[in-house]
Amino acid sequence: MRWTPRGRSRDIEDRRGQGLRRAAPIGLGGLLLLAVLSLITGQDFLSLVDSGSGPSTAPGPTEPYVESPEEAELYNLVSFVLDDTQETWERLLPGYRRARLVLFTDAVESACGLASSATGPFYCPADERVFLDLGFFRELEDRFGAPGEFARAYVIAHEIGHHVQTLTGAAAAVRQAQQRNPSRANELSVRLELQADCYAGAWGHATGQRGILEPDDFDDAINAAAAIGDDRLQRMGGGRVSPESFTHGSSAQRMEWFRRGFEAGRPDACDTFAD
Ligand SMILES: [Zn+2]
Repeated sequence: MRWTPRGRSRDIEDRRGQGLRRAAPIGLGGLLLLAVLSLITGQDFLSLVDSGSGPSTAPGPTEPYVESPEEAELYNLVSFVLDDTQETWERLLPGYRRARLVLFTDAVESACGLASSATGPFYCPADERVFLDLGFFRELEDRFGAPGEFARAYVIAHEIGHHVQTLTGAAAAVRQAQQRNPSRANELSVRLELQADCYAGAWGHATGQRGILEPDDFDDAINAAAAIGDDRLQRMGGGRVSPESFTHGSSAQRMEWFRRGFEAGRPDACDTFAD
């Protein structure tokens, strides 16, 4: 991909190096102390206590994350792809609303729950954000055998595809259908994944039209589509799909739908629910 760095995307939230640490429980004694202090001083110290239920988490130390030159370069690539995919969708889908992308290391808290880097990149519909640890790209190359910039771009474009499904209502419709008909839950998840692949392809088409595609790019993306197992989105978000039965569809299906989107360049070529 012949891309020119355009600086860092305004839609990226950099939460690298923050990790997560458990907030210390305040305990009954602490609460009493705060209540007494509030009475004495007239200030509401109790409002300082997180009233949320369950274990609460707070961002860790906030020193700026020190990135390697390689990570700085990846940040630029992610910025370019994120902006380019979303500009493409602003043209393809009237009323498109931009997603944000959260960069994290180790672990991150999303509206879909707590996730570790081992989860892989994912999109959380509840907060309309893509979550990505840049370390995944090394894994993509070493473990999944999918090197190349366009393979990385494909990963982001696929996640943005899930955002499109949230905006079109396809994701919600699938969740409802899965609840009505649990025996079809897995099949419907596969169709949703294949549509995200097709949407990634539709973006690939747009890059081709602008002449920034290089000869190997299509193959790199197809290779990545075939290599990546699952991005755990449905496991985290849907809750109804058991990990054992979860699948993204066969490699052949994934390649086929990416190719369809790539050739058509239109989202209406991506009706994976039709047949
Ligand atoms: Zn996916």
